[in-house]
Amino acid sequence: MSERKPIVAGNWKMHNNTVETRNLIREIVKKVKNSGEQCEIIVAPPFTSTAHAVEEAKGSIIQISAQDLFWEDKGAFTGEISGPMLKEIGCSHVVIGHSERRQYFCETDETVNKKIGASIRNRLIPIFCLGETLTEREAGATFNVLKRQLAQGLNAIEIQNPVNFVIAYEPVWAIGTGKTASPEQAQEAHAFLRKELANLRGESFAVQTRILYGGSVKPDNARELMGCPDIDGGLIGGASLKAVDFVGIIEQGTGI
Ligand code: PEP
Repeated sequence: MSERKPIVAGNWKMHNNTVETRNLIREIVKKVKNSGEQCEIIVAPPFTSTAHAVEEAKGSIIQISAQDLFWEDKGAFTGEISGPMLKEIGCSHVVIGHSERRQYFCETDETVNKKIGASIRNRLIPIFCLGETLTEREAGATFNVLKRQLAQGLNAIEIQNPVNFVIAYEPVWAIGTGKTASPEQAQEAHAFLRKELANLRGESFAVQTRILYGGSVKPDNARELMGCPDIDGGLIGGASLKAVDFVGIIEQGTGI
């Protein structure tokens, strides 16, 4: 693990109503030994549970993220949720560009870019997701895809402090499939992203930026993945829905 403070974030997707949300947060808080100095812990519940999660996590080390936001701050955009609304209820982070949103909800590099802009403008820390599909990997296009997603996602956005910016490398073929990237594959992609980030934003920015790995992380593979020099934690889907697994990943992955 590098000197960058690791982050373990749980993406709950469309799981957990308000009661389940409160119960799961209570269980995580009870189990986790971390005091917050060695590792940041974030959970991203669905929208209707977010305010409940903020309330339940109050006074604990758990921070609450949204799973998406809209790029405008207000207006006639039926069904959308804005940055100021998330900020008002106490969210600290927002997941942007998750592959499921790219796949099912027409998210593009351009909309991801606008959403990252909205998150920075509203002082919400973006967890910027990117990653290649299996077809792209098999065609040898992984690095081109990552380079394009990173550059277009960040296009014309000013980020003052890299501590308030998080990238999640999530190879699409590893999400929810039980297929994990090998530590070598993941490290190679993370090192590439950090090098590209240095080209775009300078060495110091790149060195300070946390890059999380996501894709079928579990307690029994967390240590070898998060032990790689350029992997600064994990974005966890399925295994974040059980306190014992989520806390197991935190313990195995960060050594606390
Ligand atoms: C995710 O949805 O971001 C994810 C990594 O899912 P899973 O851990 O289930 O593969």
